[in-house]
Amino acid sequence: MVLSVEQRCLTGFPERLVAFEVDQLERLEDSVYALDGYLRLAYVNQGWERFALENDGAEVLEQYPPGADVLSVCGPLRPFYETHFRHCLEHGTRWAHDYECPSPERYRRFHMDVYPLPRHGGLLIVNTRSVERPFDKGERPVRDPVESEYAQPNGLIVQCSHCRRVQRADRELQWDWIPAWVHEPPANTSGGLCRPCYGLHYPPPLD
Ligand SMILES: [Zn+2]
Repeated sequence: MVLSVEQRCLTGFPERLVAFEVDQLERLEDSVYALDGYLRLAYVNQGWERFALENDGAEVLEQYPPGADVLSVCGPLRPFYETHFRHCLEHGTRWAHDYECPSPERYRRFHMDVYPLPRHGGLLIVNTRSVERPFDKGERPVRDPVESEYAQPNGLIVQCSHCRRVQRADRELQWDWIPAWVHEPPANTSGGLCRPCYGLHYPPPLD
């Protein structure tokens, strides 16, 4: 591994994780991270580092050092996660959520468990891969990355932050699977949510 525990942790934060035993967290296959009381990144385990290196590369590790505003990665889902995380922090309650994180070739689903740390000191977030398999034939018809078919009038390409499909320019409700843009989104990509993902996974919070 590239970084030591100290390099992956806010100073003094391991003490807040005592109940979870940092040694154990380090050995997990799961991707684990912790947030402090301000929802800043406070710790990542080796599994998180490994997942980052396998997927988006080393720049993710540089972009999100301890103290970073890691929720910025959530794009349009930020208010959803922030609302639930703050609720866990304030009330000392647990929360769980399932989400997709497909690669260009494989369907992947993760289960997220959020545990409050003592005295509102932060959250521990464990991400377990629950499904990983190649896409079934015809499950996601592959489309080519043709910018003119997908660039919206404002010049942006909108990719669903959950399923990674891309919205067509001429049909608002049509979202297509473009593996080339999952592998490397164009610079003018913006995060959005397709209708099914919005309705199924991110319904507006109930009062
Ligand atoms: Zn979607």
